Parts: sequence; structure tokens; C-alpha cells
Amino acid sequence: MARNTDPKCRQCRREGEKLFLKGEKCFTDKCAIERRSHAPGQHGQKNNRMSDYALQLREKQKVRRIYGILERQFRRIYAEADRRKGITGQNLLQLLECRLDNVAFRMGFGASRSEARQVVRHNGVTVNGRRVNIPSFLVRPGDVVALSAGAREQLRVKAAMEAVEQRGVPEWISLDSKEGKGTFKSLPARTDLPSTINESLIVELYSK
Ligand code: SF4
Repeated sequence: MARNTDPKCRQCRREGEKLFLKGEKCFTDKCAIERRSHAPGQHGQKNNRMSDYALQLREKQKVRRIYGILERQFRRIYAEADRRKGITGQNLLQLLECRLDNVAFRMGFGASRSEARQVVRHNGVTVNGRRVNIPSFLVRPGDVVALSAGAREQLRVKAAMEAVEQRGVPEWISLDSKEGKGTFKSLPARTDLPSTINESLIVELYSK
């Protein structure tokens, strides 16, 4: 299975902001963005003005990196967002939020999306009582996502759930951390999602 092997903190520095790819480390002062916020590489500290195309490309790369998705799959998700009724950019973000690996991350089944994806792939998650090990599976409003008994005992899962309990889950998710399960209550509204994402730039990029 193809995957992005670029160092995670380097990806954040490339985009110039925290993408929260490394779990708990992202909330400490060990975060690489806190230490060196300029882009990586020999020319990283140059302050070049970006073209419109560069801005659109960077926004798309940023969102891809946040959700840990490769280009081909991201294009497929975009095509589906474009096909659906409503605002394409908003549909895109909602589709990304519906992915099982993302929902598992939001519920605290992993400290980061990549860790949550691993829990899913290793048969650690059920949807409405049925085992699902496909990270791109789309969760629907009302679906109950739960940890398997084995996954619930894993120390890294316990630590991730404790951290999420402290930070709280987003509005569109309810969590019963004692039972290790949660409900995807509804699709998130645009106002619930980070304002640092400018999805219209992605739409402009793919509409060319
Ligand atoms: Fe990004 Fe987290 Fe690394 Fe900070 S610690 S640069 S937020 S991956």
C-alpha cells in the first residue's frame, strides 16, 4: 500500500503551520514549528511572494497532509464532492471528516490520524457492531463506531483516549470513553471545521 513517508514535522514546516500529525508531541514545546517555523531546505528561509497557483497548490497539499491522503485518492474524493449537491469545498471537507480513520481519530482511538488508521487496519474498530478495517470507509450520521475488546486494552489507545477526554470531542461526535465507543451524530457544519483551511483555493485548483 502506497503511503507518504515524508517526515511529519517537515510536512508541517513546509506548510508553515501545525498540522498535528504526531499526536501528543504536537501539544508540547518540542513541536518543530515552535522551534523553526520556516520551510525546510536550503531556500526555506527565503521570503518569496507566492503566485495564485502556488497558494492553491499549498492549500491542497496542506489538507491532504492533515488527513494523510495521497494525491490520487484525494482527487477521487474531490470528484465525489463535486458530484454531490451543495458547495463543493464544503462537501470535500465533510467527506474527509466521514472517513473511518478520521472518525476514529476524533474519538481518540489513536493519538494521530496515522495511529488511528493503524488501529482500523489492524481490525481494532467496529461500525454498528461489524468489524471494518478499511480506513477510507465512509461513516454515516448515526453510525456507532467502537473499539474491539483487544484494541481497548492497548496502552497507546488508552493514552490517546485519556488525552481526548481532557481536550473534548467535536460537536458532531458523542463519546462514551468507558465503553470505548462513540456516535457520529451528524455531518460537521463548515463553522465547526478549522477556519485555517481555505477550501475554495482547492476548488479553484482542481477547476482549471
Ligand atoms: Fe507538526 Fe506535530 Fe511535528 Fe509540531 S510536532 S511540527 S504539529 S507534526
